[in-house]
Amino acid sequence: MFLISGALRSTLAWWRSLLLLALSLLTGANAWSWGAQGHEVIAAVAWQRLTPPARQEVSRLLALEPGQTLVSISTWADEHRSPATGVWHYVNFPRSSCNYTAARDCPDGRCVVAAITHQRAILASQADDAQRLKALKYLVHLVGDVHQPLHAGYQDDRGGNRFQLQAWMHARNLHAVWDSGLLRSMDLDNDAIASRLEAMPVVSQALDLEPAHMAEESCRIVAQTGFYPGADLNAAYAQRFTPVLRQRLALAAARLAAMLNAAIAQSQGEQNRSAIASLSMPPLIPVNPLDREK
Ligand SMILES: [Zn+2]
Repeated sequence: MFLISGALRSTLAWWRSLLLLALSLLTGANAWSWGAQGHEVIAAVAWQRLTPPARQEVSRLLALEPGQTLVSISTWADEHRSPATGVWHYVNFPRSSCNYTAARDCPDGRCVVAAITHQRAILASQADDAQRLKALKYLVHLVGDVHQPLHAGYQDDRGGNRFQLQAWMHARNLHAVWDSGLLRSMDLDNDAIASRLEAMPVVSQALDLEPAHMAEESCRIVAQTGFYPGADLNAAYAQRFTPVLRQRLALAAARLAAMLNAAIAQSQGEQNRSAIASLSMPPLIPVNPLDREK
């Protein structure tokens, strides 16, 4: 009979938890998107930049699910991924070109560029509230994703997911480094990161709300010499790319706010137009000229 002593049992339990921790770091619970922190700070900064009518409308839609905020819904799309919607979170470019070509890079609209365009159109439309809330959940998330450089990288290494390296004393993949590692290495809480992003000047690039251009910018960062580090991620890499990461987060937030402001203004403009039209248009009742003479 084989008896495991108490001491051995606790040693085994310790190794088991260490192994589980290592596995979770390797597989990366968030290997597919900015970690929660990235999405949350983008949403927090965007919220500060909403116009009063947009903020009011976003609040009205969020109230359909009491307790939700723009920040709390920012990770919903990752928590509700399916094989059909998984492709909405990224776009792949060939290594030879960062020029977006829909037929090549987004067949059948199955990529983040088309998904943003589609969800923005729903939010800007007269669709019912439940549909527009869902579109808001996708937009707040996907506009973040398209600004993560490796969400517009290469198919052959699955956006850096297959590029293994050592970073901060752990085995990681490059995608996870960009999703959460670099941000976490700043060692600041969400509020502190958000206030730093808010203090950054809004660059003119932020006025470009074309999702294909956002993806192309991300791809060009990935294509830079030195973006793929050696087997060890060194301090020089973090020093060079942390400002790039901060710029991507700030751009994502500014563009998300501008997109929400515009989509909501468009939706309300259409609503006003149809209200005015229904007021000023008398009901069309065909009049038979012969009736009048009776
Ligand atoms: Zn995602």
